[in-house]
Amino acid sequence: MIIDFEKHPEGLVPAIIQDAQTKNVLMLGYMNQDALDKTKKTNLVTFYSRSKNRLWTKGEESGNVLNLVDIKLDCDHDTLLISVNPKGPTCHKGSDTCWNQSNEESYGFVTKLEDTITSRIESADAQKSYVASLFAKGINKIAQKVGEEAVEVVIEAKDDNDKLFLEESADLLFHYLMLLQAKGYKMNDVVSVLKQREK
Ligand code: AMP
Ligand code: ZN
Ligand code: ZN
Ligand code: ZN
Repeated sequence: MIIDFEKHPEGLVPAIIQDAQTKNVLMLGYMNQDALDKTKKTNLVTFYSRSKNRLWTKGEESGNVLNLVDIKLDCDHDTLLISVNPKGPTCHKGSDTCWNQSNEESYGFVTKLEDTITSRIESADAQKSYVASLFAKGINKIAQKVGEEAVEVVIEAKDDNDKLFLEESADLLFHYLMLLQAKGYKMNDVVSVLKQREK
């Protein structure tokens, strides 16, 4: 394998890391000859880290290593495509790939959604807002809606249409967040109960 290291500044060749099973792109790193040699020798993907200023075996601290499956060179020999079997999440922020939201970011979104629900309820503009109009119909109606969405989740769970299952799950969570607020609570209060149980 003849690699054109000199084409890039500092002789570092980009290495695209791809999951061998899902084909998802997991992360991008840079390799010099030493990093590539070590990767082949150990079967663990090893980069040259410019911030660390040394060879960096992905997962050396976290244990979330990338087990080498295959290395391919692109058409003009200056970029690597490396397929791997990842152990654990590849991104150090906790998600499977560096292009996914971390759990932290996703749950932050739920908090933002709760605030949006609050402001729609406060607007009390049933003409413009679905949330305001459902809220105006009272707790029983919201609770009934949660029941309906839960049944839809149960129905979709039996099929293997994951898209519909996730859509109905989103409906359920959204209406559940509304019911919580109608009762004067937020997700945080439910999490507190769960935390209490852990003790
Ligand atoms: P690890 O190699 O997984 O033990 O992580 C060690 C350190 O490398 C982390 O604290 C991050 O600074 C960095 N790191 C780990 N994974 C990534 C990644 N996918 N992209 C960028 N930096 C990473
Ligand atoms: Zn190229
Ligand atoms: Zn990342
Ligand atoms: Zn639904």
